Amino acid sequence: MLIALLPGDGIGPEVIAETRRVLEALSLDSLHFEEALVGGAAYKATGHPLPPETLDLARRADAILFGAVGDPDCDALERHLRPEQAILGLRKELGLFANLRPAKLFPELADASALRPEVASQIDMVIVRELNGDVYFGEKGMRKTVDGKREGYDIMSYDEDEVRRIARVGFETAMARGKKVCSVDKANVLETSQLWRDVVIETAQEYPDVALSHMYVDNAAMQLVRNPGQFDVIVTGNLFGDILSDQASMCAGSIGMLPSASLDSAQKGLYEPIHGSAPDIAGQGKANPLATILSASMMLRYSFGYASQADRIEQAVAKALARGARSPDLGGTLSTREMGDAVLAALT
Ligand code: ATP
Ligand code: MG
Repeated sequence: MLIALLPGDGIGPEVIAETRRVLEALSLDSLHFEEALVGGAAYKATGHPLPPETLDLARRADAILFGAVGDPDCDALERHLRPEQAILGLRKELGLFANLRPAKLFPELADASALRPEVASQIDMVIVRELNGDVYFGEKGMRKTVDGKREGYDIMSYDEDEVRRIARVGFETAMARGKKVCSVDKANVLETSQLWRDVVIETAQEYPDVALSHMYVDNAAMQLVRNPGQFDVIVTGNLFGDILSDQASMCAGSIGMLPSASLDSAQKGLYEPIHGSAPDIAGQGKANPLATILSASMMLRYSFGYASQADRIEQAVAKALARGARSPDLGGTLSTREMGDAVLAALT
């Protein structure tokens, strides 16, 4: 298995370095690593945020482990040269249409959640968000109405194949977990949502073991705070998923804790922490590497089928936290390297 390591900018290289150490400590002969420049680091070296050799490595690799991109030095560049274009380009070039964001509260971090500890402790869900369609990619524009007012518009659309393939990811994810899918839409108002609901119901026939429910997005937003423990897998469109996954992440403590996966139809994936390059703390050893380490665990599980190795990493993270390992974002004083050490020491 070839893993493309794309550390990127800011704290990216720091958190990727710790993650590589953890992966290497698993002593799996089948894992190989190749590193390439991406983002501002790539722009500075080659004049392009996503150089051809980086894209080539990403295509050849069995999975991609991505740090973060974003560099204040590049703020004045034209849009297509900015570091952020690299991640958008990778998602598009590789057809990564399914974004999986697990939100789980490690019990040791109950005090860091935005929710009361007894409610927060119930959180253990995966939000499956469609990434390549919806109102983000429909026709958009600005026009003048007949009476001269400015009017902006964005067309929201989904075709049934787009819905079916993301629904399948949702059901497959649930099959490997609690066998419950909640499909979130706004079918009482939106035509796209009506199609969404119909296609999800059709797709459910392929997964008789999974319990399917439906929820309007406004209700889902409320339920996420009121009773998050009811959710196993939430499957939803690009716009609703964007909003709900940020909401869910706040319930699970620090931004430095949350991993994500973006998958194509063959379970090839790009794995990255949900946080950015954090220029304010870059180079200071203050970054929490756990979000990236947990992203590597997702990689082992989803792209390679190494479930027991993925569990090993998650258990090591839990154990390190239980032993009191805390980086500054978690209210402690451990450096990035020391957090990595704590996970390594807990790896059994
Ligand atoms: P992007 O646009 O790339 O998502 P952003 O502007 O949303 O970036 P982040 O880079 O995610 O911002 O940083 C937001 C805040 O969270 C910053 O104050 C940063 O220091 C902090 N932060 C982000 N990641 C971590 C981490 N792994 N450990 C500790 N603090 C972090
Ligand atoms: Mg951000």
